[in-house]
Amino acid sequence: FGALQAEDPEIAGVVLDELERLRGGLQLIASENFTSPAVLAALGSTLSNKYAEGYPGRRYYGGCGVVDQAEEIGIARAKELFGADHANLQPHSGASANFAAYAALLQPGDKVLAMSLPHGGHLTHGSKVNFSGTWFEPVPYTVRKDDELIDYDEVRDLALQRRPKMIIAGATAYPRLIDFARFREIADEVGAWFMVDAAHFIGLVAGGAIPSPVPYADVVCFTTHKVLRGPRGGMVLCREELAKRIDKAVFPFAQGGPLMHAVAAKAVALRECLQPSYREYAHQVVANAKALADGLAAEGMRPVSGGTDTHLALIDLTATGVTGADAERRCDAARITLNKNAIPYDPQKPMVASGIRVGTPAVTTQGMGEGDMKEVASLIARAVKAEDEATTREVAGAVGALVARHPAYPRP
Ligand code: PLP
Repeated sequence: FGALQAEDPEIAGVVLDELERLRGGLQLIASENFTSPAVLAALGSTLSNKYAEGYPGRRYYGGCGVVDQAEEIGIARAKELFGADHANLQPHSGASANFAAYAALLQPGDKVLAMSLPHGGHLTHGSKVNFSGTWFEPVPYTVRKDDELIDYDEVRDLALQRRPKMIIAGATAYPRLIDFARFREIADEVGAWFMVDAAHFIGLVAGGAIPSPVPYADVVCFTTHKVLRGPRGGMVLCREELAKRIDKAVFPFAQGGPLMHAVAAKAVALRECLQPSYREYAHQVVANAKALADGLAAEGMRPVSGGTDTHLALIDLTATGVTGADAERRCDAARITLNKNAIPYDPQKPMVASGIRVGTPAVTTQGMGEGDMKEVASLIARAVKAEDEATTREVAGAVGALVARHPAYPRP
C-alpha cells in the first residue's frame, strides 16, 4: 500500500476512505462480506499480469506452469468442499457464470422457468433488460400471496404447460430454504435441465448450515464474494458429463483470459471454507439473521414469509409508513448500509419499494452475535423512523460504538 500512496495519493485516499467507511458503520447488504487479508493479498498479486487463456495444461500462452498450479489447487478444493464432479473457477462474475450455464445448455429462444424478478429472482433469470430475457423466453414463477413461499404446485403447472428447456432455482431476495429435490422432480417430469443459482447462499452450503443443491442440480452457478467470503467473481459446478460443455461455454464462448489473481484468491477462500471455523461462521450467520429478523419484527417491521432460514431477511416496512428508498437513505445517514428491496406483490415502483433487505454475512465476520443483532434491529428501527437530524446523529453515534467493539479489519 505504501507504493500506491507514493505513486497515486488520490486513489490511495479513495482506498483508505472506503476502509474507514467499512470500519465505521454497519454493513448489512446481504450480498457483501469482508474478505480476509490472505484473499486480498492474492488479489493484489502479480498473478494479475498473466495471460492464461484455456485451462491448466491446455493454455494458449507460454509461461502458464505456475498459474496452472493456482487453478488446479482451487478446482480440487472446490470439488472437495462441495462434493462436485467438476468445478470451473474462471467466470468473472455471477452473471458470467449464469451466462455460461445458458450457453452450455440452451439455444436462443428456449424457454427458461425461473423466479420472477419482483418476487426475488435475479436479472439473469429472465429480465427484459438482460441477455436472459432478450435471447431466451422467460417463464416466471412467483411466491404465494398468503405465506410468501415458493408455490411448487405453480412451478409444476407452469412446467407442464410451457415445457421449459431449463428450470432455475435460486434468488437474490428469498429468505427461505429451497426444496431442490422437488425442483429436480419437476425438471425430470418435463425433461428440463435443472440449474441452481446459489450465488446468495452457497457460503451457507459450504459451511454445512443449509442443504446443498449439488446432488440435485445439473449445474450450480454462484458468486464467490457473498457469504462464501472470497474475491468478487463467479464459479460453476457440474456433473462430469457436462464438464466439457461448461468449460467451453466459459472460455472461449463467453470470456477471454481468466483473471488469474482472482482464481488464486478463490482458491484461498475455498481453503478458508474448509476450516472448522468457517462451519461455525456459517451457522452463526444464520443464527444472527434469525435474531435480526425477530428483532425487527419486535420493532413493528414485518419479515416477509415470517422470518428467515438463511443469511438475509426481507422486511416489509408498510406498517411504518416509510418507503424502502426513504429507509435506505435514512439508514445511510446513520451509518447503517442496507438496500431498499421490493417485497412480493409490492404496490410501489422498484426504485421506491416497500421493503428493505438486510443480511448478516459481514457483521458475523466482524464477530457479532445474536445479542448484537437485537441492538442492530433497534438501531435500524430508530434510523428508519427518525424524523430529525438529532436522532439520526444519535443513532450514528451508537452504531460507531457498536462497531468499535467488533472492528472490521482491526488495526494492527
Ligand atoms: N445471481 C444471483 C442470485 C445474485 O444475487 C447475483 C448478484 O447479486 C448474481 C447472480 C450476479 O452476480 P454478479 O453481480 O457477480 O454478476
